[in-house]
Amino acid sequence: MQIEKRYTLLINGQHVESSTGEWFETYNPATGERMAQVAKASRADVDKAVDAARRALNGKWGRFSAARRSQVLNQIAAILRARFNELCELEVLNSGKSLGNAQGQVMQAIEDFELYAAAALAHEGRSKPVPNGFLNYTVKEPVGVCAQIVPWNYPFMMAAWKLAPALAAGCTIVLKPATLTPITALVLADICQEAGVPDGVVNVITGSGSDVGAYLVEHPGVDKVAFTGETSTGKDIMARASQTLKRVTLELGGKSPNIVFADADFDAAIDGALFGIYYNTGQSCEARSRLIVQEEIYDRFMDAFVEKAKKLVMGNPLDKGTHIGSIISEQQVEVIDGYVRSAVEQGARVVYGGKRPEGAEYEKGHWYMPTVIADVSNDMKVAQEEIFGPVIVMTKFKDEQEAVALANDTIYGLAASVWTQDFGRAHRVAGKIKSGIVMINNPFSAFPGLPFGGYKQSGFGRELAMESLDLYTETKSVLAYIGEKPLNPFGL
Ligand code: NAP
Ligand code: MG
Repeated sequence: MQIEKRYTLLINGQHVESSTGEWFETYNPATGERMAQVAKASRADVDKAVDAARRALNGKWGRFSAARRSQVLNQIAAILRARFNELCELEVLNSGKSLGNAQGQVMQAIEDFELYAAAALAHEGRSKPVPNGFLNYTVKEPVGVCAQIVPWNYPFMMAAWKLAPALAAGCTIVLKPATLTPITALVLADICQEAGVPDGVVNVITGSGSDVGAYLVEHPGVDKVAFTGETSTGKDIMARASQTLKRVTLELGGKSPNIVFADADFDAAIDGALFGIYYNTGQSCEARSRLIVQEEIYDRFMDAFVEKAKKLVMGNPLDKGTHIGSIISEQQVEVIDGYVRSAVEQGARVVYGGKRPEGAEYEKGHWYMPTVIADVSNDMKVAQEEIFGPVIVMTKFKDEQEAVALANDTIYGLAASVWTQDFGRAHRVAGKIKSGIVMINNPFSAFPGLPFGGYKQSGFGRELAMESLDLYTETKSVLAYIGEKPLNPFGL
């Protein structure tokens, strides 16, 4: 299936071409076929989008009650449900991910809108007892115009993770999708319009991150930047946003550990470890990319893991039986392969994969085999840097203390899985790991309602949960004097 279409910017509810008339092209990563032409926004377009968002904030949307915003969010979810199959297929073409992955992510996006439809009603201020004659209450007010910048690995779901809480909080938005995968975010914005979000509340700018993305982050008309992407980009964004002291939330990279103790349910740990790394072809911020296994079972675990990895089906992402889709770009394939070479140079052993797959079906598009690298020490590049591909590195440990030390020996702190049947150990280790999410005996890191976000250089802020609403609102404290006698603080 090939889609040849033009996608335009969405500014103030209108589909518009770039003010410069420029376009860029997007490709299906699994086939290399051209998918669409997309408007390449200019800085003047960013100005228009920010202006539209500001006017929408001060207009009709600003007067929507929480109940009405909640209805709109539910309506978005209803349209997404009705268009589920079409959206999943479009996301596959947009990103090269397997249909099964896309289905899970579109469903999660739907549940996210439903979650925030409810959360909009539940988010409230409080009243604090204060001295007699006074009354205090707090009010949650929308933080304002939000720049939301998202990556290519979960193009639809990340856009939903960003839009849903911002809309629930009453903010307005300028969304910038990744240049490699802009299409489904544009469709989602259209669905927001169709569901009753007023013009100018959701605007979408497509174009270069280093140009219009950076300009958006610096824009004095923007109150908050919510960013998901690479840690290095996050640092640049934080520096730029500091000039106007914007609110910033950053969801960044990871190098998440998967710790397997010798007493774990062996087969469950194998299956969970496979999913933890090869889900989304390893192109996940929360990928459990470091497999840290207790020494007594290390060799046996490695052999069983490789045997199962061989059974994973890689190929046409639209086939229902496919587990592993393509890599986003040829450049990313080169990056992944470079990491594998570096591991070999540093003395590690490639025990499976480590190359592009062979066969006619992989001649077009961008592919890399599921890869297992053993005998990795934690100081190697492949143990410290995010590879962002289907590559797992294996390290052994002696005891609980060493497992925790290895797990924490990274600049990142996003997610971790722990496999053990010892209840006390599971929770002890969970308590000691410096990461925003710890999974015990399972590989699943993101459920709507559970806070998702990083420690250390994996960023700050939380998505998917009530905590996110606090990050899209300012808390105003109102202190009223209600006493009978007038106040005379100077006693004059
Ligand atoms: P990226 O290169 O940092 O780009 C992310 C977004 O930022 C894109 O829209 C990009 O636009 C834009 N951008 C680039 N430079 C910018 C700048 N100087 N100012 C403003 N915007 C800029 O990330 P990616 O390669 O798309 O995504 C992969 C990364 O995302 C991985 O590191 C992964 O771990 C992380 N991630 C984190 C989470 C999480 O929740 N923690 C979730 C998913 C992914 P262009 O596309 O035009 O360059
Ligand atoms: Mg990048």
